[in-house]
Amino acid sequence: MSNPSLLILAGDGIGPEVMAEVKKIIGWYGDKRGVHFDVSEDLVGGCAYDAHGTPLTDETMAKAQAADAVLLGAVGGPKYDKLDFSVKPERGLLRLRKEMDLFSNLRPAQCFDALADFSSLKRDIVAGLDIMIVRELTSGVYFGEPRGIFVEGNERVGINTQRYTESEIARVARSAFELARKRSNKVCSMEKANVMESGILWRDVVQEIHDKEYTDVELSHMYADAGAMQLCRWPKQFDVIVTDNLFGDLLSDMAAMLTGSLGMLPSASLGLPQANGRPKALYEPVHGSAPDIAGQGKANPIACILSFAMALRYSFDMGAEADRLEGAVNDVLASGARTADLMGPDGGTPISTSQMGDAVIAALNATL
Ligand code: NAD
Repeated sequence: MSNPSLLILAGDGIGPEVMAEVKKIIGWYGDKRGVHFDVSEDLVGGCAYDAHGTPLTDETMAKAQAADAVLLGAVGGPKYDKLDFSVKPERGLLRLRKEMDLFSNLRPAQCFDALADFSSLKRDIVAGLDIMIVRELTSGVYFGEPRGIFVEGNERVGINTQRYTESEIARVARSAFELARKRSNKVCSMEKANVMESGILWRDVVQEIHDKEYTDVELSHMYADAGAMQLCRWPKQFDVIVTDNLFGDLLSDMAAMLTGSLGMLPSASLGLPQANGRPKALYEPVHGSAPDIAGQGKANPIACILSFAMALRYSFDMGAEADRLEGAVNDVLASGARTADLMGPDGGTPISTSQMGDAVIAALNATL
């Protein structure tokens, strides 16, 4: 049987720097665990524009469609700010998400014990936190028609439309229930059914899918504004939260930042399962290309490393290996190793991007 395939799109700025550490870890899994991937690499974002005049070529798009999983670093940078909208680096990423139909965006909020004091909340509220926000990514108010700025009478009117079909709600609900089965078997669905018809439909469809297919999973519903309050008050009450595109955008940013630095936050965007049972999938750190620190060896590679751990878990069904990698990151942080973004007010000497990658490899070796 052939090895699973990984397409690496490191992108711009710190993207290639953090991805270099992930490549070391992929190599480690081959050497030490017999877990081999067929890895290919290509360009996305500004570097693709420089080489081909487009942020994503059709050939790269086809490779992404054929890969078992795509790992992306980051795209963008000041050099490309003045480009026409149609060829901006971000358009490459948006094309990948759209054409792969990646409707389910997974954003974990996980607090490593050693970083609990980094949060703006008290240690006992965040220590040990491990929740997952599932955000619908390809529909809702960011895509609904009509949209635009129109003139009515003697003033302008800005219009966006929240629109969800039953099938769009059902597929993201299933994705959340499946995920919950791999975690603590609990889903909370958030909408605004009190004031929005799309929210009423959302609540009904999530409940129907639950009652027909997932009665083993505990389901609750919450208004999204109350959900935001509860996330601040006692986030550990949640396991999986499923919500729409707009509320998910806000709630996932808020939940993720409960746990500290942008350099720590991974994400996954998943589509429908393919014939081989694997979903179309793209894994990427939440952060951007960080032009202010690019090329200086200062970037924290952990978000990108944890994105690879998500690939092990959600694309390749290697939950135990994902646990091993996340455990290694935890051990490294517990040992006090910190990149510059994780330095507290007390100071200390930060380690470099590649030293952090090496420390994770050393911690992985210690698990053998
Ligand atoms: P950013 O995430 O690149 O940086 C925000 C701040 O966080 C910066 O101070 C940066 O140094 C720091 N930071 C980010 N990642 C870090 C890491 N791994 N380690 C240490 N520090 C880190 O966001 P920005 O500055 O708003 O955007 C910069 C460029 O990235 C822009 O061109 C933007 O369009 C692009 N961007 C891309 C993506 C993506 O590729 N998914 C996401 C966001 C922004």
